[in-house]
Amino acid sequence: MQTRYRCGHALEHSQDHTDWHLAAVSYPCPACLRAVAAGQQKQTAAYVNLQQLSPAMAAFVLEVADAPAALGELLAQQGYASSTPSRDECTPGYPERLETGAVWRKEFHFAVDISPGFVLALMEMLKHETMLLSAYFPAGSKAVAFMAFPQRNRELESELFEHGCLEKAWHASALPA
Ligand SMILES: [Zn+2]
Repeated sequence: MQTRYRCGHALEHSQDHTDWHLAAVSYPCPACLRAVAAGQQKQTAAYVNLQQLSPAMAAFVLEVADAPAALGELLAQQGYASSTPSRDECTPGYPERLETGAVWRKEFHFAVDISPGFVLALMEMLKHETMLLSAYFPAGSKAVAFMAFPQRNRELESELFEHGCLEKAWHASALPA
């Protein structure tokens, strides 16, 4: 039997029965939520960054800005928390009730001395989730920004990635961007 989203549209790829999709089908499909966002003139965008949370801990951080309320419900269900936007690599946003200017934030933590293979595997996971998310954005994958903080922690990046920085590792990895 074909799996359908709440709006009645079918889940396109039957192999995509991941945890994400199992939860996402309780909400309208990407095309319908994209239409809602476009109708509300939303410029929904995702920001992917690295943050150093303490001397020993870092995290990939995904922040979704300008999401319509209907997408917010899905994001909350997928483990995103309402937050103020992060300012830079050392200044994460803080939890907040969602209002204008707020973002939906999810962190993928790891210890900075963990093996590079683990960091790359985590990055792949993040990349996959970003790809799924961008289907809900009116501008699609063009609305995904990498390392857009004004101040970057080059030292941490060169320690973590053989390629020297997150974008290069991201684009060199197997999954489509
Ligand atoms: Zn639909």
